[in-house]
Amino acid sequence: MKAELKLYGNQHGSVSVAPVPEPFTTIEPMHDSYGRRINYLRISLTDACNLRCVYCMPEHMTFMPRNQLMTKDELLFLVRVGASLGVNKIRLTGGEPTIRPDIVELVQAIAATPGIRDLAMTTNGVLLDKLARPLAEAGLNRVNISIDTVEPYKFHHITRWGELDDVWRGIRAAEEAGLHPIKLNCVVVRNFNENDIAELARLTIDNTWEVRFIEMMPFGEVTDFQQVNVVTFQEMRERVESVFGPLEEASYDYVDPSRPFRIPNAKGTLGFISSVTEPFCQGCGRVRLTADGKLRLCLLRDDEVDLLTPLRDGAGFEEMRALMRGGAYHKPWGHGLGQGVIAETRAMNQIGG
Ligand code: SAM
Ligand code: SF4
Repeated sequence: MKAELKLYGNQHGSVSVAPVPEPFTTIEPMHDSYGRRINYLRISLTDACNLRCVYCMPEHMTFMPRNQLMTKDELLFLVRVGASLGVNKIRLTGGEPTIRPDIVELVQAIAATPGIRDLAMTTNGVLLDKLARPLAEAGLNRVNISIDTVEPYKFHHITRWGELDDVWRGIRAAEEAGLHPIKLNCVVVRNFNENDIAELARLTIDNTWEVRFIEMMPFGEVTDFQQVNVVTFQEMRERVESVFGPLEEASYDYVDPSRPFRIPNAKGTLGFISSVTEPFCQGCGRVRLTADGKLRLCLLRDDEVDLLTPLRDGAGFEEMRALMRGGAYHKPWGHGLGQGVIAETRAMNQIGG
């Protein structure tokens, strides 16, 4: 049986795109030129956000016009293309993914896509109080929630207007909805929250959460700020150990970017994401889909393949498969921060982290 997807609400009005074989015949895994299997797609659902974190975007950020964003049907088409090429893991991100009005429907449709085994979301948590349950019921497996401090006034300062209580409510709602394991993402920024690392780490003693400390990365328009204020993995670790003593190191698979540690006897774990000082590119099987439908091959490099324009121009399923497979093949080995190469064309919210 053939299914026909319709595109609605973009600049073209209502347009038919090529039929997707239903179900697609075979899964043919894609690899890059270094032999890494590409099975993980991170999708930025929108570049817009209800916060303005200092490390992510300028305060007066201009967002893309809506007609440049992928519609629900375009996005689902590309998810099916990816799944037919062995993508089995998807993370929805942004901007803030929960501000998309069709977020629950999107999650439901992606979760039902043959081949997708793991569907996660990275969110600032502000809207999770209301959305955690519907998202879990729609098929979302788990969430990473960003929280950079346990001090309400600092949270307000880092996010430019956010309320920390909204995030705590979101975390509780995610727990109750069963979106486990809960991971908390903390970007560490000098002169903002480096003194809060130990208190954030303390959360793992009584909660089965993974608290992940992330080195700030440079992008787009705020690179000066981002480069000057990096707190390194080593410094973060020393700060935690100065309070809790030596951390236990867990085994590291080089696939998850987060290096796992534990405060002795804690229920949860700590993770350190050292993209800047100790990159983990050898195990990277990720590609990203930007909010405007570009396949981004490395978070920290500007190489992209435009998928949305050919799709809107009427390319069929097989053609889109060839484009995605060909793009993924050219995934660069790793980022070039050590050589002074900085991704400049986009801010983090357009790529999706
Ligand atoms: N709005 C959601 C959130 O904040 O979780 C999802 C999008 S956000 C771009 C994804 C992740 O990227 C978040 O954990 C955020 O803290 C992180 N992030 C943003 N800018 C960053 C930067 N310059 N360096 C490192 N991580 C960053
Ligand atoms: Fe928004 Fe997330 Fe960027 Fe903060 S990190 S401004 S919450 S997209």
